[in-house]
Amino acid sequence: MRVLYVSTEVHPALKTGGLADVNAALPAALAHAGADVRLLLPAFPALKAAAEPTGTAVGVKCPPAAGTVEFLPCRLGGIAGWLVDAPALYARPGNPYVGPDGSDWPDNARRFATLGWAAARFADGGIGHWRADIVHCHDWHAALAPAYLRARGGALPGTVFTIHNLGFQGSFPPDQFAGLGLPAHFFAMHGVEFHGSLNFMKAGIHYADRVTTVSPTYAQEIQTVAHGFGMDGLLRSRAGALTGILNGVDTAAWNPARDAALPAPFAPGLLEGKAVCRERLRAEFGLARAPGGPLIGVVSRLTAQKGLDLLLDALPAVLAIGGQIVMLGSGEPALEARWADAARTHPGTVAVRQGYDEALAHRIFGGADMVAVPSRFEPCGLTQMYGLLYGALPLARRTGGLADTVRDATAAARAAGRANGFLFEAASADDLAAALHRAGALWREPAAWRLVQDVGMRERFGWADAASRYMDVYRDLRPAA
Ligand code: ADP
Repeated sequence: MRVLYVSTEVHPALKTGGLADVNAALPAALAHAGADVRLLLPAFPALKAAAEPTGTAVGVKCPPAAGTVEFLPCRLGGIAGWLVDAPALYARPGNPYVGPDGSDWPDNARRFATLGWAAARFADGGIGHWRADIVHCHDWHAALAPAYLRARGGALPGTVFTIHNLGFQGSFPPDQFAGLGLPAHFFAMHGVEFHGSLNFMKAGIHYADRVTTVSPTYAQEIQTVAHGFGMDGLLRSRAGALTGILNGVDTAAWNPARDAALPAPFAPGLLEGKAVCRERLRAEFGLARAPGGPLIGVVSRLTAQKGLDLLLDALPAVLAIGGQIVMLGSGEPALEARWADAARTHPGTVAVRQGYDEALAHRIFGGADMVAVPSRFEPCGLTQMYGLLYGALPLARRTGGLADTVRDATAAARAAGRANGFLFEAASADDLAAALHRAGALWREPAAWRLVQDVGMRERFGWADAASRYMDVYRDLRPAA
């Protein structure tokens, strides 16, 4: 089964969110499951610097790039593939989607149409002498590949489109369609048009043979008005082709027993090291020692999606249970300002680090008693899984992948040995505060707390299960490959 895996970011070379973690682990897991996986990514400077060249570049005229693109054969993170080089579009350092001022690059439609075009052109075997059975595209950036393939016609590979976050759609004014080299009749309701705009996400959902998303609950939720971002009707019409496959965790990178970023290792049942991590984290952030409640960690983008305004609104409950917060994140300036303000108002109790820091993220999961993920929506979410494995009980909203990975510490679930964290229902400070009070009460029963923690630390989130589910999707499309 030859799979062309098309995406934009890969940890550690280039990461803006969980997609990079997925791309660092899933291709290897698919290879392990028997697929011949090849990556296709834009030649962003960070990816080009990390890739190991393996052959000679091949240049091809590319209509959406309005020039020639080069396919650079390489290995990236141990996986073979090609970078699509078009310096006028991709040779821009930093975040792959937005410029230094934080706004989208004005030519994003052209930049990511080029990636989709390149995938479709490459898949037929004429360039790299490798023909794809399946083209697997990730998020809106790669979503035009199935449209370009459909436009080409003839014997086509199977196409799979994975939605990592329906909130980012790649929507552009209609006049940007003209330069992309797709047939004019593709700009239609049954095509790439969405309420008068050009919409990449819509194209992926419409043209791909199969659509997947990153948790079973999110697969259901996006078919509802509340979570569908306007695409719920289209997604319902494709329900038969839509599957939710839960992401895994790269346990080579996320294992508290072998994590070089932690001041001390620990493991289920062997928690002395966790106590060291906790005290070091408190010291690092100037938090009071021996408070009367749990240390709550947050590692997140600061956007409305993540619901961290709710945690600020519920701060009185954190204080009431004697809790402390360490927050690592960056994003919307108004939220950054509110968090900075909370840290100023509650020194020794609330500590904030703005920015992006991978090693600190590990230290936070290692040292925290809980990890807060109060998201308004969460396609899968990785930080609650990292928290579970690192003995930090998730405090999470029951939505998307959080609902699929966190089991609330009700009395019944605890008695059954299933509980691994705390869930609340509504995206409200009141519901969050109620869950905080339940957490505070359990924290005061150390033996009961440890049982819940132990369940979490023994969860199995390896990528093998997900890889075998994706293989099922591929085989369903190409039984003979
Ligand atoms: P999303 O992709 O929506 O941002 P996920 O939970 O799927 O959310 O993945 C987020 C990833 O980014 C995790 O690996 C998390 O540890 C990491 N992360 C988020 N913010 C930061 C930060 N400020 N510093 C370090 N890592 C971060």
